[in-house]
Amino acid sequence: MRPSLLNPLFAAITVLQGVGPKVERLYRRLLGRDDVPRVLDLVFHLPVGTVDRRARPKLSEVVPDSIVTVEVRVDEHRPPSKHSRAPYRVITSDDTGQTLTLTFFNPRPDYIEKLLPVGEIRYVSGTATTYDGMLQMTHPDRVVDAAGLATMPLIEPTYPLTEGLTANPLRKAVGQALSHVPALPEWQDEAWVAQNRYPPFADALRAVHHPAEPGDVLPTTTAWSRLAYDELLAGQLALALVRAHMRRPAGRASTGDGKLRARIIEALPYTLTPSQTRAVADIVADLEKPVRMLRLVQGDVGSGKTVVALMAAAAVIEAGRQAALMAPTEILARQHLKTIAPFAEQAGLKVAILTGRDRGRERADILQRLADGDIDLLVGTHALFQDEVVFKSLALAIVDEQHRFGVHQRLALARKGEAVDVLVLTATPIPRTLVLTYFGDMDSSELREKPAGRLPIDTRTVALSRLDEMVDAVGRAIDEGQRVYWVCPLVEESENSDLAAAQDRFVHLQERFGAAVDLVHGQMKGADKDRAMARFAAGETRLLVATTVIEVGVDVPEASVMVIEHAERFGLSQLHQLRGRIGRGTAKSICLLLYRAPLGETAKARLAIMRDTEDGFRIAEEDLRLRGEGDVLGTRQSGMPGFRVARIETHGALLDAARDDAALILAKDPKLASERGEALRHLLYLFERDEAIRLLQAG
Ligand code: ADP
Ligand code: MG
Repeated sequence: MRPSLLNPLFAAITVLQGVGPKVERLYRRLLGRDDVPRVLDLVFHLPVGTVDRRARPKLSEVVPDSIVTVEVRVDEHRPPSKHSRAPYRVITSDDTGQTLTLTFFNPRPDYIEKLLPVGEIRYVSGTATTYDGMLQMTHPDRVVDAAGLATMPLIEPTYPLTEGLTANPLRKAVGQALSHVPALPEWQDEAWVAQNRYPPFADALRAVHHPAEPGDVLPTTTAWSRLAYDELLAGQLALALVRAHMRRPAGRASTGDGKLRARIIEALPYTLTPSQTRAVADIVADLEKPVRMLRLVQGDVGSGKTVVALMAAAAVIEAGRQAALMAPTEILARQHLKTIAPFAEQAGLKVAILTGRDRGRERADILQRLADGDIDLLVGTHALFQDEVVFKSLALAIVDEQHRFGVHQRLALARKGEAVDVLVLTATPIPRTLVLTYFGDMDSSELREKPAGRLPIDTRTVALSRLDEMVDAVGRAIDEGQRVYWVCPLVEESENSDLAAAQDRFVHLQERFGAAVDLVHGQMKGADKDRAMARFAAGETRLLVATTVIEVGVDVPEASVMVIEHAERFGLSQLHQLRGRIGRGTAKSICLLLYRAPLGETAKARLAIMRDTEDGFRIAEEDLRLRGEGDVLGTRQSGMPGFRVARIETHGALLDAARDDAALILAKDPKLASERGEALRHLLYLFERDEAIRLLQAG
């Protein structure tokens, strides 16, 4: 049970003034929640900069295009004449004789009259500009009297925003949210807190949200570092708990005779690469040990993880048990089945699929056969977690594309059998420094070389202004019988515009290329999506416009061209994943990254990396390095999940300490029952690692 002290933080943000049902939707988008955001989400929405209102020049000294706070006398109101679209102007001045015109578009006149009474002194803060030689300020950020000035913060935090939600109401909401943060028991080690001069948790939050200096909102501050350390410790503690739980000796070791594996190898139209062979050997060795396996197979896109998974499954099936392979999407689950089924069946394995879409008779039949042990390997989606899914003897749970699942999902699958071994496949190459963060001391096998015969992909960056030329080039590729993916960008402005952009592009391309063009997107029904993919795979359609639903896994070896629109809006790892959809066949592949000019320095460097290398590990490392230089867009979109506060570039160095700390804590207090243990439970809930607490209760 969550400690009641934390309840105010887990309240819906609609408890805050000014956050009604309408704005609540905007907050969902801003905070990336499918559900109503909680006060906690807002508290962890940390600033990205500040507005500095400390400059207090006389009007004659104002530097144009800078933010100033000036003292002025209100001289005259000049409302626009009726039906005119001219702005409402208010003329002000100070004792230097210089005037400042305040400009308002479409204001309520009575509001302006009250705000700026003629003859009174007011303090006005905002960006001053010169227009026609006149000093002016359009829509001042603040207009206050002397009393208001006394309480006006001169340094204000700025936050990531979303369309429809502006800075002022967001700041107010965050301010209110902060007042809901209770004083919490200290969960950090006393000596460590003293050594680092960490403020208490609540104070640290306040320091970051209420900066006294612009530098106070940097991740390098003591306050932010404290919060980051809290988050890292929560993560490491949860991992250590999971690990302790998973690593309990298994009742049985799975030792196969190798026959099925040999038959699969025989059925394969290729030989395994050295790193595939090594990974399989690692896994088989793990399976034979009477300890639970918790192993990560990291392999770049196209490195051939699926067959490694199949070999692992075969090993437990040889021992008379069952395996499950779980994919994050329906498309991927079906793809896996398609890849695996031919070899598996030749080798005599019984394979079936179960997704949320399977209903009724067929589903009942699969569940029955599963319970009877008549299915050896079950492929599926989240549907595999459901309570009705009962295995006769599940020995191995394989989870593909790990970064989309939470730890608790991994556990849920593992609970479906007795001492289930867990194998995680990830196609996002994770820099070494991060493996620890996400996976604790999980064992890891890397597939670094690509299967033989792959041609390098020719990647080019092209300005969107040359779109027409690109469409012509795509037309030529289609005429030559090539198959083309056209990926449409992430759009942030509204929930539906991802789709709108893709639909729009689809209509245009269809006008040009007719029935050769098809569309696939995330809001299509599963069956329709699969049909569209199948038509493309079969060559019935040759140009597939897609949103990022095709991001992971889908394998159409004939696809040799990929166009990515607004490539600058994607994270590098996402671009890398997307690009991995091509270059899988025998044809030379080309990837066109279309960007909107002009690009900033970081964006330029990021796209250049894509052009220069196909090594996913290098791309991930470079991405991390560049994002350290403040590419907020990249940070948000690059799919490094799970962190609200810690910035790996800045706080990565704290990770070792957090890991040691977690180990020490559990060595001394494995049930988190001491006073510090109780405090640490608060921490786990705060950073939503509380699923680990359930393990403590389970014993
Ligand atoms: P990923 O690691 O991205 O999941 P897949 O397992 O889907 O990659 O494999 C990509 C493609 O490479 C598949 O078409 C698969 O049949 C092929 N493949 C896998 N291993 C080898 C190999 N050793 N030699 C040649 N082709 C291979
Ligand atoms: Mg795969």
